[in-house]
Amino acid sequence: MTSDTAKVPAEEIFELITDQWTGPYWDAARRHVLTVPKCASCGKFRMPPTPFCPHCLSQEIEWPELSGGGTIYSYTVVTRAIIPQMETTLPYVPALVELPDAPGVRLVTNIVDVPVSEIKVGQAVKVRWHDRRDGVTVPCFTF
Ligand SMILES: [Zn+2]
Repeated sequence: MTSDTAKVPAEEIFELITDQWTGPYWDAARRHVLTVPKCASCGKFRMPPTPFCPHCLSQEIEWPELSGGGTIYSYTVVTRAIIPQMETTLPYVPALVELPDAPGVRLVTNIVDVPVSEIKVGQAVKVRWHDRRDGVTVPCFTF
């Protein structure tokens, strides 16, 4: 790997705390299954998970298994550490990825293991699971 390769951000970037609305997403991730909440009443996807559907106010949720494919909608390249623990995980590339099998969702994620100079809006990507030391599994995306 070269210094141009997009890395997985340091684990210290966030501590995971879940509740009844977000837990199913992270439980599925731990099994390396990508899912996002889908309203069981009107059929629309929503992300992040919320107690009420913003379209019809239903609380009925389904968690369909997605293909893991996506398209980069937007991204940025972080080259400065905001905390000292991140010095070794630069550069990293936060991104919004659209999921073709969950219309309307733009997942906040990271592009990893590819040259930063080759990342482009509209690039097709696929999920790559990152199992953290603390037991949290984070969906990242790569070419
Ligand atoms: Zn709904």
